[in-house]
Parts: sequence; structure tokens; C-alpha cells
Amino acid sequence: MSWHVLGAGSLGSLWACRLFRADVQVQLVLRDPRRLTAYRQASGLTLVEQGHSHLYPIPASDLQDSAPIERLLLACKAYDAAEAIAAVAHRLTPAAEVVLLQNGLGSQDEVAQQLPGRRCLPASSTEGAFRDGDWRVVFAGQGHTWIGDPCGAAAPAWLQELERSQIPHTWSADILARLWRKLAFNCAINPLTVLHGCRNGELVRYHEQVDALCTELAELLIGCGQVEAAQKLHSEVWRVIEATAANYSSMYQDVAAGRRTEISYLLGYACAAGERALLQLPQLKALHQRLQEHLDGHGLPRY
Ligand code: NAP
Repeated sequence: MSWHVLGAGSLGSLWACRLFRADVQVQLVLRDPRRLTAYRQASGLTLVEQGHSHLYPIPASDLQDSAPIERLLLACKAYDAAEAIAAVAHRLTPAAEVVLLQNGLGSQDEVAQQLPGRRCLPASSTEGAFRDGDWRVVFAGQGHTWIGDPCGAAAPAWLQELERSQIPHTWSADILARLWRKLAFNCAINPLTVLHGCRNGELVRYHEQVDALCTELAELLIGCGQVEAAQKLHSEVWRVIEATAANYSSMYQDVAAGRRTEISYLLGYACAAGERALLQLPQLKALHQRLQEHLDGHGLPRY
């Protein structure tokens, strides 16, 4: 059974290269014939690890291909997920499984709604990768990926292939709690680093703002039924800030590079969930508005 990787960006390429070099069957699904031609000209994907680069001639097709898909890794951004899955939904076999690598919350439901009866497995990853050129990916940060089934079914047998490919992972019995907690960290840290134009560690100067956000985020988690994910949120957020003090957050990096952010699936999702739960979250709402204005000012989408 072959893996299809839709989205040969940073994380998708990182997964595809590791699967391929472990002799696991994998192929890329690229956007269109023009991208496929460009890929073929590059002869494959290049993975840069600890300063060494290696070219992997991974097979590829484009969205117009009609071959059935049994196992899909959806590796695009959250805001592209619904459209990307719509383009391949008809190719998924009835027993197909789809692993969702998107950060934040919201896109997983958008995808699952289009795939009734198919197994959708959200993932949450702390690995770090970026593209330093077309068809080139730099493995920038060792990390871990949690995968789980919100419906609670058993772990799939193909996790062994991830083991063989040395993709560090754990099957998570409560993947939604993990995604919620990561979303809360993200909402407490990333928008402020954008608005203050600073590294994560510099948020110590805005201690009160971070603490006020943590209080509302804990309220939100509890209000949305994620009581465990709300435990020790303040102290964990400060631990993450300390551990990543020298880093620029992913949202900071996106804005600095003029790239669209995933705001709607992070802070936007948090605010909408708070409204649905009839919670008063003035700090989060004000932060969302300020962030949207900031994005407007930089000519970037506010959603
Ligand atoms: P990325 O580098 O921007 O890659 C996304 C890829 O998806 C691009 O190659 C894009 O193609 C492709 N794509 C989008 N729509 C498509 C479509 N309809 N058909 C085919 N391909 C399509 O993004 P990323 O950094 O890998 O992030 C993916 C997700 O993982 C995000 O939710 C992110 O937050 C999360 N994540 C990333 C990291 C990381 O270190 N990068 C870490 C943890 C979590 P084009 O190149 O043609 O535009």
C-alpha cells in the first residue's frame, strides 16, 4: 500500500523523504502539471540535514491523476486543506485513511465533513522544517508527532512504517486534547510575538498580557470540555516560552516573510469557539482584532 503525500512543502517533503529512504512506498501529489514538470526537472526532493543534502527521486503525479489513494498524508496549510481534499476525495478508496498534519483546529472538521465514512487521523507535530528553495527542505528541529483518532478506534498497523522511517511518533488516545492544548500555547505566544515584533523569550516583558491570555484560554478549554488540557496552562506556557526563548514563532516568521498566516485556525478558532460556548473572552477578542489590523497593515489576509 502506497502513501500519497499531498503538499510537497516543508513537512510533507520531510515525511516523504524519510518514508522513501526507508523503502516505504510513497509518492507525491503535486498541484498541477506545471509543478510536476518543475519537480521532474529537479529530479526529486532534496533533504538537508545537519548541513548534508541528499536527493531523493520520489515518484510524483499531479491532482489530475486518477489512480486510487489508500493512504493520504495531507500536508498543506490549514487554510488550503478543504480545497486540497476536495480535489482528491473521489480518488480515495472506501477504506482510505487520511493523516492530517495541519496546525490549529477547524481544518480537521472541514476535511472530515467531505469524507464521510473515511478514517481521518489528526496529527500534532513539534518537528521543524523549512524550504530553502524549490523542492528543497531543511530539517531544522528534531521533534515528535502525535497521531490519533478522534473516534477512538485502535492504532493502525502502518505506524510500523513510521517506526522504520525513523519518524518519531506516538499514538495518542486523546488527540483532540493535544490539539487544543497546542492551540492554547499558540494563542498565548504567537500573536504577541507578532504584535511586539519579538522573539518568544522577550515576552517576559509582557508578563501581564501573557498571564491574562492564559486565564482566558484556560476558561475556554474548560468551556469546550477540554478540562485536562486546561491543567497548569500558565506554568506550561511560561515553560515553553523559556524553552524556545531564542526562537521567532511560526506566525512571526510567516508575517516577516509576507506569507499568509493560519490565524483563522488558531486565534480565530479560539474566539469563535468561545462565542459558541457563550464565554466572555475580552482579552482574546481584543488580541484577535489587533492581529487582524496588523495583518491588514502588512497587506496580508486577515483570515
Ligand atoms: P508549506 O511549506 O507551505 O507547504 C504546504 C504545501 O502544500 C505547499 O507545497 C503547497 O504547494 C501545497 N499545497 C497547498 N494546496 C495544495 C493543493 N491544492 N494541491 C497540492 N498541493 C497543495 O507548509 P508546512 O510548513 O509544511 O506546513 C503544513 C502544516 O504543518 C501547517 O498547518 C503547519 O502549521 C504545520 N506545521 C508545520 C511545521 C514546520 O516546521 N513547517 C511544524 C509543525 C506543524 P505549493 O508549493 O505549490 O504552493
